[in-house]
Amino acid sequence: MAGIYLHIPFCKRRCIYCDFFSTTQSGQTDRYIEALCAELEQRKDYLEDEEIETVYMGGGTPSQLQEKHFEALFDTLYHHYSIRLDAEITIEANPDDLHPTYIRMLRHFPFNRLSMGIQTFNDATLSVLQRRHNARQALEAFWNCREAGFGNISIDLMYGLPGETLATWQADLKQAVTLHPEHISAYHLIYEEGTPLWKLREQHRVNEIDEDLSVNLFTELIHTLKNAGYEHYEISNFCLPDKYSRHNSSYWTGKTYLGCGASAHSYNGTSRQWNIASLEKYITGIENHKPDFEKEELDLYTRYNDFIITSLRTMWGMSLTRLKTGFGEKLYDYCIHLATPHLQQHTLQQTGDFLKLTEQGIFISDSIMSDLLWVED
Ligand code: SF4
Repeated sequence: MAGIYLHIPFCKRRCIYCDFFSTTQSGQTDRYIEALCAELEQRKDYLEDEEIETVYMGGGTPSQLQEKHFEALFDTLYHHYSIRLDAEITIEANPDDLHPTYIRMLRHFPFNRLSMGIQTFNDATLSVLQRRHNARQALEAFWNCREAGFGNISIDLMYGLPGETLATWQADLKQAVTLHPEHISAYHLIYEEGTPLWKLREQHRVNEIDEDLSVNLFTELIHTLKNAGYEHYEISNFCLPDKYSRHNSSYWTGKTYLGCGASAHSYNGTSRQWNIASLEKYITGIENHKPDFEKEELDLYTRYNDFIITSLRTMWGMSLTRLKTGFGEKLYDYCIHLATPHLQQHTLQQTGDFLKLTEQGIFISDSIMSDLLWVED
Protein backbone atom coordinates (compact mmCIF):
# COMPACT_ATOMS: atom_id res chain seq x y z
CA MET A 1 0.00 0.00 0.00
CA ALA A 2 1.16 3.47 -0.85
CA GLY A 3 0.44 7.17 -0.43
CA ILE A 4 -0.02 10.18 -2.67
CA TYR A 5 1.08 13.68 -1.74
CA LEU A 6 -0.18 16.70 -3.71
CA HIS A 7 1.62 19.99 -3.21
CA ILE A 8 -0.55 23.11 -3.42
CA PRO A 9 1.97 25.97 -3.28
CA PHE A 10 -0.34 28.98 -3.13
CA CYS A 11 -0.39 31.22 -0.05
CA LYS A 12 -2.21 34.52 0.32
CA ARG A 13 0.90 35.90 1.96
CA ARG A 14 4.16 34.49 3.26
CA CYS A 15 4.77 33.79 6.94
CA ILE A 16 8.15 35.14 8.02
CA TYR A 17 9.58 31.82 9.19
CA CYS A 18 8.55 29.71 6.22
CA ASP A 19 10.99 27.96 3.92
CA PHE A 20 8.51 25.61 2.23
CA PHE A 21 8.07 26.07 -1.48
CA SER A 22 5.13 28.43 -1.78
CA THR A 23 4.10 31.42 -3.85
CA THR A 24 1.61 34.27 -3.75
CA GLN A 25 1.02 34.07 -7.56
CA SER A 26 -2.56 32.85 -7.24
CA GLY A 27 -3.30 33.94 -10.84
CA GLN A 28 -1.56 30.71 -11.91
CA THR A 29 -3.83 28.42 -9.90
CA ASP A 30 -5.99 27.09 -12.76
CA ARG A 31 -2.95 26.32 -14.91
CA TYR A 32 -1.18 24.69 -11.97
CA ILE A 33 -4.10 22.41 -11.15
CA GLU A 34 -4.27 21.35 -14.80
CA ALA A 35 -0.56 20.50 -14.63
CA LEU A 36 -1.04 18.64 -11.36
CA CYS A 37 -3.82 16.52 -12.88
CA ALA A 38 -1.63 15.91 -15.93
CA GLU A 39 1.26 14.80 -13.72
CA LEU A 40 -1.02 12.41 -11.82
CA GLU A 41 -1.95 10.88 -15.16
CA GLN A 42 1.60 10.85 -16.58
CA ARG A 43 2.96 9.11 -13.47
CA LYS A 44 0.13 6.67 -12.87
CA ASP A 45 2.51 3.70 -13.12
CA TYR A 46 5.02 5.04 -10.59
CA LEU A 47 3.43 3.09 -7.74
CA GLU A 48 2.98 -0.04 -9.87
CA ASP A 49 -0.75 -0.45 -9.22
CA GLU A 50 -0.34 -0.44 -5.46
CA GLU A 51 -3.52 0.39 -3.58
CA ILE A 52 -3.57 3.94 -2.25
CA GLU A 53 -3.98 4.06 1.50
CA THR A 54 -3.51 7.80 2.04
CA VAL A 55 -3.86 11.01 0.06
CA TYR A 56 -2.48 14.22 1.50
CA MET A 57 -2.97 17.73 0.09
CA GLY A 58 -0.33 19.91 1.67
CA GLY A 59 1.25 23.22 0.95
CA GLY A 60 1.42 26.05 0.68
CA THR A 61 -2.24 26.46 1.49
CA PRO A 62 -4.59 23.91 -0.09
CA SER A 63 -7.53 25.80 1.43
CA GLN A 64 -6.83 28.53 -1.15
CA LEU A 65 -8.29 26.21 -3.82
CA GLN A 66 -11.82 26.47 -5.15
CA GLU A 67 -14.45 23.76 -5.60
CA LYS A 68 -13.62 23.31 -9.33
CA HIS A 69 -9.98 22.57 -8.43
CA PHE A 70 -10.92 19.83 -5.94
CA GLU A 71 -13.35 18.38 -8.51
CA ALA A 72 -10.57 18.15 -11.10
CA LEU A 73 -8.09 16.63 -8.63
CA PHE A 74 -10.45 14.00 -7.22
CA ASP A 75 -11.77 13.07 -10.69
CA THR A 76 -8.19 12.46 -11.81
CA LEU A 77 -7.21 10.60 -8.65
CA TYR A 78 -10.17 8.23 -8.70
CA HIS A 79 -9.86 7.69 -12.45
CA HIS A 80 -6.20 6.65 -12.45
CA TYR A 81 -5.55 5.20 -9.00
CA SER A 82 -7.02 2.47 -6.91
CA ILE A 83 -7.89 4.35 -3.74
CA ARG A 84 -9.01 2.22 -0.84
CA LEU A 85 -12.49 2.82 0.52
CA ASP A 86 -11.01 3.42 3.97
CA ALA A 87 -8.19 5.66 2.70
CA GLU A 88 -7.13 8.56 4.91
CA ILE A 89 -7.63 11.73 2.85
CA THR A 90 -6.22 14.87 4.45
CA ILE A 91 -6.32 18.53 3.57
CA GLU A 92 -4.14 21.15 5.21
CA ALA A 93 -6.06 24.35 5.86
CA ASN A 94 -5.50 27.84 7.16
CA PRO A 95 -8.01 28.83 9.87
CA ASP A 96 -9.05 32.04 8.17
CA ASP A 97 -10.06 30.18 5.00
CA LEU A 98 -12.42 27.94 6.94
CA HIS A 99 -15.67 29.87 6.71
CA PRO A 100 -18.81 27.75 7.17
CA THR A 101 -19.61 27.79 3.43
CA TYR A 102 -16.05 26.75 2.52
CA ILE A 103 -16.13 23.92 5.09
CA ARG A 104 -19.49 22.71 3.72
CA MET A 105 -17.95 22.68 0.24
CA LEU A 106 -15.01 20.60 1.51
CA ARG A 107 -17.45 18.09 3.01
CA HIS A 108 -18.70 17.29 -0.51
CA PHE A 109 -15.28 15.79 -1.27
CA PRO A 110 -13.76 12.63 0.19
CA PHE A 111 -11.66 14.48 2.80
CA ASN A 112 -11.94 12.68 6.12
CA ARG A 113 -9.09 14.43 7.95
CA LEU A 114 -8.28 18.11 8.25
CA SER A 115 -4.98 19.55 9.43
CA MET A 116 -5.21 23.12 10.65
CA GLY A 117 -2.18 25.40 10.89
CA ILE A 118 -2.90 27.22 14.14
CA GLN A 119 0.70 27.59 15.45
CA THR A 120 -0.25 29.60 18.58
CA PHE A 121 -3.31 31.17 20.18
CA ASN A 122 -1.32 34.29 21.06
CA ASP A 123 -2.47 37.12 18.78
CA ALA A 124 0.64 39.25 19.27
CA THR A 125 2.90 36.36 18.22
CA LEU A 126 0.67 35.42 15.28
CA SER A 127 1.03 38.95 14.06
CA VAL A 128 4.85 38.90 14.46
CA LEU A 129 4.92 35.68 12.42
CA GLN A 130 2.63 37.35 9.85
CA ARG A 131 0.10 34.58 10.01
CA ARG A 132 -3.20 35.61 8.43
CA HIS A 133 -5.45 34.46 11.27
CA ASN A 134 -5.96 35.37 14.91
CA ALA A 135 -6.84 33.16 17.86
CA ARG A 136 -10.58 33.84 17.64
CA GLN A 137 -10.63 32.77 13.98
CA ALA A 138 -8.71 29.59 14.81
CA LEU A 139 -11.20 28.62 17.53
CA GLU A 140 -14.22 29.42 15.35
CA ALA A 141 -12.72 27.49 12.44
CA PHE A 142 -12.10 24.48 14.65
CA TRP A 143 -15.65 24.40 16.01
CA ASN A 144 -17.15 25.06 12.59
CA CYS A 145 -15.23 22.07 11.19
CA ARG A 146 -16.45 19.91 14.05
CA GLU A 147 -20.01 21.05 13.56
CA ALA A 148 -19.76 20.29 9.84
CA GLY A 149 -18.79 16.70 10.67
CA PHE A 150 -14.99 16.58 10.54
CA GLY A 151 -14.32 13.89 13.13
CA ASN A 152 -10.57 13.72 12.62
CA ILE A 153 -8.84 17.07 13.06
CA SER A 154 -5.15 17.72 13.55
CA ILE A 155 -3.79 21.04 14.71
CA ASP A 156 -0.25 22.33 14.21
CA LEU A 157 1.44 24.24 17.01
CA MET A 158 4.83 25.92 17.15
CA TYR A 159 6.93 26.64 20.20
CA GLY A 160 10.18 28.44 20.87
CA LEU A 161 8.60 31.49 19.23
CA PRO A 162 10.03 35.00 19.70
CA GLY A 163 9.18 36.21 23.20
CA GLU A 164 7.93 32.77 24.27
CA THR A 165 7.96 31.89 27.96
CA LEU A 166 6.93 28.75 29.77
CA ALA A 167 3.69 30.55 30.72
CA THR A 168 2.76 31.47 27.12
CA TRP A 169 3.42 27.89 25.98
CA GLN A 170 1.37 26.49 28.86
CA ALA A 171 -1.49 28.76 27.79
CA ASP A 172 -1.25 27.48 24.19
CA LEU A 173 -1.22 23.87 25.34
CA LYS A 174 -4.15 24.41 27.69
CA GLN A 175 -6.19 25.90 24.84
CA ALA A 176 -5.17 23.10 22.46
CA VAL A 177 -6.16 20.40 24.94
CA THR A 178 -9.52 22.10 25.53
CA LEU A 179 -10.30 21.72 21.82
CA HIS A 180 -9.56 17.98 22.11
CA PRO A 181 -8.37 17.50 18.50
CA GLU A 182 -7.60 13.92 17.48
CA HIS A 183 -4.02 14.86 16.59
CA ILE A 184 -1.51 17.54 17.54
CA SER A 185 1.78 18.26 15.76
CA ALA A 186 4.13 20.56 17.64
CA TYR A 187 7.35 21.83 16.10
CA HIS A 188 10.09 23.97 17.55
CA LEU A 189 10.57 27.16 15.53
CA ILE A 190 13.62 26.96 13.30
CA TYR A 191 15.37 30.08 12.03
CA GLU A 192 15.83 28.90 8.46
CA GLU A 193 18.55 30.68 6.57
CA GLY A 194 17.26 33.24 4.08
CA THR A 195 13.81 33.68 5.66
CA PRO A 196 12.71 37.14 6.86
CA LEU A 197 12.75 35.77 10.42
CA TRP A 198 16.38 34.72 10.03
CA LYS A 199 17.22 38.24 8.85
CA LEU A 200 15.42 39.76 11.84
CA ARG A 201 17.57 37.66 14.15
CA GLU A 202 20.71 38.71 12.28
CA GLN A 203 19.67 42.34 12.85
CA HIS A 204 19.05 41.56 16.57
CA ARG A 205 15.41 42.55 16.16
CA VAL A 206 14.20 39.20 17.48
CA ASN A 207 15.97 36.90 19.90
CA GLU A 208 16.12 33.14 19.78
CA ILE A 209 15.07 31.51 23.05
CA ASP A 210 17.83 29.80 25.01
CA GLU A 211 18.55 26.09 25.10
CA ASP A 212 17.29 25.53 28.66
CA LEU A 213 13.94 27.10 27.86
CA SER A 214 13.69 24.98 24.70
CA VAL A 215 14.14 21.83 26.75
CA ASN A 216 11.57 23.04 29.31
CA LEU A 217 9.03 23.77 26.57
CA PHE A 218 9.50 20.31 25.06
CA THR A 219 9.17 18.72 28.50
CA GLU A 220 5.98 20.69 29.13
CA LEU A 221 4.61 19.62 25.75
CA ILE A 222 5.18 15.94 26.44
CA HIS A 223 3.79 16.01 29.99
CA THR A 224 0.73 18.12 29.21
CA LEU A 225 -0.34 16.10 26.21
CA LYS A 226 0.35 12.74 27.84
CA ASN A 227 -1.72 13.81 30.86
CA ALA A 228 -4.51 14.79 28.47
CA GLY A 229 -4.57 11.28 26.97
CA TYR A 230 -2.42 11.81 23.89
CA GLU A 231 0.11 9.24 22.72
CA HIS A 232 3.52 10.66 21.91
CA TYR A 233 4.01 8.49 18.83
CA GLU A 234 6.67 10.48 16.98
CA ILE A 235 9.10 13.15 18.18
CA SER A 236 6.81 16.02 17.13
CA ASN A 237 3.46 14.22 16.89
CA PHE A 238 0.79 13.26 19.41
CA CYS A 239 -2.60 11.66 18.97
CA LEU A 240 -5.63 10.28 20.75
CA PRO A 241 -5.70 6.45 20.69
CA ASP A 242 -5.43 5.09 17.14
CA LYS A 243 -5.57 8.53 15.54
CA TYR A 244 -2.06 8.43 14.09
CA SER A 245 -1.48 10.31 10.89
CA ARG A 246 -1.46 7.32 8.56
CA HIS A 247 0.11 9.41 5.81
CA ASN A 248 3.07 10.66 7.84
CA SER A 249 3.47 7.25 9.49
CA SER A 250 3.94 5.78 6.03
CA TYR A 251 6.99 8.06 5.53
CA TRP A 252 8.45 6.85 8.82
CA THR A 253 7.81 3.20 8.08
CA GLY A 254 9.38 3.23 4.62
CA LYS A 255 6.23 2.84 2.51
CA THR A 256 6.28 4.09 -1.05
CA TYR A 257 4.68 7.37 -2.06
CA LEU A 258 4.12 9.49 -5.10
CA GLY A 259 4.51 13.25 -4.70
CA CYS A 260 3.03 15.47 -7.39
CA GLY A 261 3.34 19.21 -7.79
CA ALA A 262 6.20 21.70 -7.64
CA SER A 263 8.89 20.62 -5.13
CA ALA A 264 7.05 17.38 -4.21
CA HIS A 265 9.16 14.33 -3.33
CA SER A 266 8.48 10.71 -4.32
CA TYR A 267 9.95 7.44 -3.07
CA ASN A 268 9.58 3.97 -4.57
CA GLY A 269 11.82 1.89 -2.32
CA THR A 270 14.92 2.07 -4.50
CA SER A 271 15.09 5.73 -5.51
CA ARG A 272 13.72 9.07 -4.51
CA GLN A 273 13.01 12.01 -6.75
CA TRP A 274 11.86 15.55 -6.31
CA ASN A 275 10.16 17.98 -8.67
CA ILE A 276 11.61 21.38 -9.42
CA ALA A 277 10.71 24.05 -6.85
CA SER A 278 9.55 26.59 -9.41
CA LEU A 279 5.97 27.22 -10.45
CA GLU A 280 6.72 28.14 -14.06
CA LYS A 281 9.34 25.44 -14.68
CA TYR A 282 7.13 22.80 -13.08
CA ILE A 283 4.09 23.73 -15.17
CA THR A 284 5.94 24.03 -18.49
CA GLY A 285 7.79 20.77 -17.83
CA ILE A 286 4.51 18.90 -17.37
CA GLU A 287 2.80 20.70 -20.28
CA ASN A 288 5.67 19.72 -22.60
CA HIS A 289 5.87 16.14 -21.26
CA LYS A 290 9.39 16.93 -20.05
CA PRO A 291 8.99 16.92 -16.28
CA ASP A 292 11.69 18.83 -14.45
CA PHE A 293 12.91 16.72 -11.55
CA GLU A 294 16.01 15.29 -9.93
CA LYS A 295 16.47 11.69 -8.94
CA GLU A 296 18.73 9.81 -6.58
CA GLU A 297 19.21 6.04 -6.70
CA LEU A 298 19.48 4.79 -3.13
CA ASP A 299 22.37 2.49 -2.35
CA LEU A 300 22.34 0.11 0.62
CA TYR A 301 24.05 2.61 2.95
CA THR A 302 21.70 5.48 2.09
CA ARG A 303 18.71 3.21 2.65
CA TYR A 304 20.22 2.11 5.98
CA ASN A 305 20.63 5.77 7.04
CA ASP A 306 17.05 6.54 6.01
CA PHE A 307 15.87 3.52 7.99
CA ILE A 308 17.66 4.71 11.15
CA ILE A 309 16.39 8.28 10.87
CA THR A 310 12.78 7.42 10.10
CA SER A 311 12.22 4.41 12.36
CA LEU A 312 13.87 5.82 15.48
CA ARG A 313 11.62 8.88 15.33
CA THR A 314 8.61 6.80 16.24
CA MET A 315 7.43 5.23 19.49
CA TRP A 316 7.55 1.82 17.78
CA GLY A 317 11.27 2.20 17.08
CA MET A 318 13.49 0.16 14.82
CA SER A 319 12.85 -3.52 14.14
CA LEU A 320 16.05 -5.51 14.61
CA THR A 321 14.70 -8.21 12.32
CA ARG A 322 14.14 -5.64 9.57
CA LEU A 323 17.60 -4.26 10.24
CA LYS A 324 19.22 -7.67 9.76
CA THR A 325 17.13 -8.93 6.86
CA GLY A 326 17.04 -5.61 5.01
CA PHE A 327 20.66 -4.50 5.44
CA GLY A 328 22.71 -7.64 6.22
CA GLU A 329 24.99 -8.80 9.03
CA LYS A 330 27.66 -6.13 8.49
CA LEU A 331 25.32 -3.14 8.95
CA TYR A 332 23.44 -4.95 11.71
CA ASP A 333 26.66 -5.43 13.70
CA TYR A 334 27.72 -1.86 12.94
CA CYS A 335 24.43 -0.49 14.28
CA ILE A 336 24.38 -2.64 17.42
CA HIS A 337 28.01 -1.71 18.16
CA LEU A 338 27.15 2.01 17.99
CA ALA A 339 23.87 1.61 19.85
CA THR A 340 25.47 -0.20 22.82
CA PRO A 341 26.70 2.95 24.67
CA HIS A 342 23.23 4.45 24.32
CA LEU A 343 21.66 1.27 25.67
CA GLN A 344 24.04 1.46 28.64
CA GLN A 345 23.21 5.15 29.21
CA HIS A 346 19.46 4.37 28.95
CA THR A 347 18.90 6.78 26.07
CA LEU A 348 17.96 3.77 23.92
CA GLN A 349 16.09 0.67 25.06
CA GLN A 350 15.33 -2.70 23.53
CA THR A 351 11.78 -4.00 23.83
CA GLY A 352 11.39 -7.37 22.15
CA ASP A 353 12.49 -6.99 18.55
CA PHE A 354 12.55 -3.19 18.72
CA LEU A 355 15.19 -0.64 19.58
CA LYS A 356 13.72 2.69 20.57
CA LEU A 357 14.39 6.02 22.20
CA THR A 358 13.75 6.24 25.94
CA GLU A 359 11.98 9.26 27.45
CA GLN A 360 15.45 10.62 28.16
CA GLY A 361 16.69 9.75 24.66
CA ILE A 362 13.93 11.75 22.96
CA PHE A 363 15.66 14.93 24.12
CA ILE A 364 18.86 14.05 22.28
CA SER A 365 17.30 12.13 19.40
CA ASP A 366 19.28 13.96 16.71
CA SER A 367 22.63 13.08 18.21
CA ILE A 368 21.63 9.44 18.82
CA MET A 369 20.47 9.01 15.23
CA SER A 370 23.58 10.68 13.92
CA ASP A 371 25.74 8.30 16.02
CA LEU A 372 24.12 5.30 14.34
CA LEU A 373 24.41 6.55 10.77
CA TRP A 374 26.77 4.98 8.28
CA VAL A 375 29.63 7.35 7.47
CA GLU A 376 31.99 6.64 4.59
CA ASP A 377 35.67 6.46 5.61
S1 SF4 B 1 0.80 29.43 5.18
FE1 SF4 B 1 2.24 27.73 5.47
S2 SF4 B 1 3.23 27.42 3.48
FE2 SF4 B 1 2.22 29.44 3.42
S3 SF4 B 1 3.83 30.88 3.99
FE3 SF4 B 1 2.73 30.35 5.88
S4 SF4 B 1 3.86 28.58 6.74
FE4 SF4 B 1 4.51 28.84 4.60
